[in-house]
Amino acid sequence: MASETLKSVKHWQAHSGAAEGFARLDGEAFPTFEKGWVWLVGAGPGAPGLMSLLCYHAMQNCDVVVYDALVNPDILRWLRTGAELEYAGKRGGKPSPIQRDISLRLIELARAGKRVLRLKGGDPFMFGRGGEESQSLAKAKIPFRIVPGITSGVGGLAYAGIPATHRDTNHSVIFLTGHDATGKMPVNVNWKAIALASPVIVMYMAVKNLAEIATALMAGGRAVDDPVSIISNASMPDQNVCETTLAEAGAFVLMHKPPTPAIVVVGHASDWRPLLDWYAPALRANRIG
Ligand code: SAH
Repeated sequence: MASETLKSVKHWQAHSGAAEGFARLDGEAFPTFEKGWVWLVGAGPGAPGLMSLLCYHAMQNCDVVVYDALVNPDILRWLRTGAELEYAGKRGGKPSPIQRDISLRLIELARAGKRVLRLKGGDPFMFGRGGEESQSLAKAKIPFRIVPGITSGVGGLAYAGIPATHRDTNHSVIFLTGHDATGKMPVNVNWKAIALASPVIVMYMAVKNLAEIATALMAGGRAVDDPVSIISNASMPDQNVCETTLAEAGAFVLMHKPPTPAIVVVGHASDWRPLLDWYAPALRANRIG
């Protein structure tokens, strides 16, 4: 039985063209990118190797790509020759009056009969406004597809040697955003409940309001010496990880100004980092990884 399985794997390799590499993606195995469609695609946290094959397929078949600031430009090298590029960048913290314009632009391009690739950092439905954009498309009766990506709140942790879950530290994990639509700490979050609900809290867009957030978590009963890791530019060659504690996090951020984008991890998942920190500077030279 085992040898039969091995044989069939060999057979598949011989006929798939896999040995000839990424460029020979078998188009037939993937959904057709139809004209007039919008694909909302997550590109992953940064390292090009972390994007999905469907993302690559979309880049090879789209007419236009509308991409965000958080999409690593290195990824765009795989765009089909002749595809148009439109930048729809906006960066954290600030209100985004252009969000409606982006949705309208997607609708306009789709109505013009284009195959529209809406490329976003991480996963489109994780704090990425993919929900709002797909709602607008649905209301406008534009057909769309969502292609999930590796979210920075999971992939970024992996690149920092921090397991999002580990049986010895946490059976649950909370994802939250550190700012609301106006850039302030979200007030409609029950910070006391968050503080007590999960041993590990993963926060997006949280650097600016970290002092306030840490205070709210400690007021909610979280230990003052809870470890805090701040992962900047996760999976990129300039990835940087800082470590502090909940009590010191506010002052730490003021003093060290960790670069953004950054993910903040609260809890003892960071305890594994000294042992599991595999993303050594030598590995960062590889731009694809
Ligand atoms: N949809 C994205 C998140 C968009 S919100 C995702 O799934 O990852 C933007 C926030 O994501 C940033 O403020 C930061 O907190 C986080 N982020 C995105 N890419 C990151 C990266 N490479 N390193 C660290 N944080 C990142």
